[in-house]
Amino acid sequence: MEKKFKRIGVLTSGGDAPGMNAVIKSVTCAAIDFGVEVIGILGGYSGLINDRTKVLTEKDVSDIIAKGGTVLYSDRCDEFKTEEGMQKAIATCKKHGIDGIIAIGGDGTFRGATDLSIRGIPCIGVSGTIDNDITATDITVGYDTAMNTVLSLGDALRDTSESHARCCVLEVMGRHAGYIAMETGLALNAIGVAVQEMPFDKEDLFKKIITMREKGQRSFTVVVAEGMGGEFGEALTKEIEAVTGVEARFNRPAHIVRGGIPTLADRVFGAKCGYKAVELLLDGVSDVVICARHDKIVPIDIKWALIVDRMYKNKLKDGDLDAFTPEQIEEMKALCEERHNYFVEMYKIVNSIGC
Ligand code: ADP
Repeated sequence: MEKKFKRIGVLTSGGDAPGMNAVIKSVTCAAIDFGVEVIGILGGYSGLINDRTKVLTEKDVSDIIAKGGTVLYSDRCDEFKTEEGMQKAIATCKKHGIDGIIAIGGDGTFRGATDLSIRGIPCIGVSGTIDNDITATDITVGYDTAMNTVLSLGDALRDTSESHARCCVLEVMGRHAGYIAMETGLALNAIGVAVQEMPFDKEDLFKKIITMREKGQRSFTVVVAEGMGGEFGEALTKEIEAVTGVEARFNRPAHIVRGGIPTLADRVFGAKCGYKAVELLLDGVSDVVICARHDKIVPIDIKWALIVDRMYKNKLKDGDLDAFTPEQIEEMKALCEERHNYFVEMYKIVNSIGC
């Protein structure tokens, strides 16, 4: 019997994340092991449109697992959102005999993948985003490394804050999601954490800082999620100084948090997801994203994953739920509640033990 898949493509798209290379390596080696050739598409969907590709061998990926960023490069490509761009991408797939694609990225990338799947190129998504903002999966590739990077920066800042008896306000990436801020806030012994998922009581924060200073504490850390918006962190820093009398400094490491050597957790999770994606794609599965759910690696329908994201962010549009059964909608609601409860629980702990 003739094999359906002779060649598959792999690409990274949207914001880069440490651990993407572990996925690329795993996809490449697993596919070759299954007797399938791998084409690396350079620069995400724009590479697909503009035919920038290269064959990937095991040797090409033999030592990329420890590297941050993505060896396939990443890009944002608006042309891919048009029918014309989509047809150019399909033409590239036909030209190279690419029978399916594994697309590593965030929700935008998965939107692109589902559009391609509908047009006859089977696609499977693997998460690659530091933000952990894909509701369908408990964790995303890149999240763990980003948190560990913030941890190192926050610890270093605490050293200097302690020397100078200051409060450091640390703003961390995460787009609209407060996961990085919440977890690192707890680990950095932050006296306050501000994330958009939870109400933020700044008067309470000022009171805590004043009380702890009266007790003799020299340094403080406050972690603010990027999702709180442009000037929030800087304004809060000034207010802390004005209200509490504690000298305060604002720090925004920004993109530094996206780079760096991937942690063990991201390498392992990335490798597992890549392998699973190849197994499923060659098995005829398409239009799913590989997710971690309660310690299992499972495929989740991309459309389900995209809609549950919208539900979680209160951004559902009319008709979004029409294609789903009442059971599926219940499942979505339960997942959104689980995610919300995570923040409630974490916020309680942070506010109780942070000082
Ligand atoms: P991320 O994947 O990290 O969420 P983006 O939202 O920037 O990053 O999306 C990455 C790329 O995915 C976009 O530049 C575009 O090429 C593609 N994409 C995003 N949304 C769509 C869409 N609705 N249809 C087709 N392609 C899309």
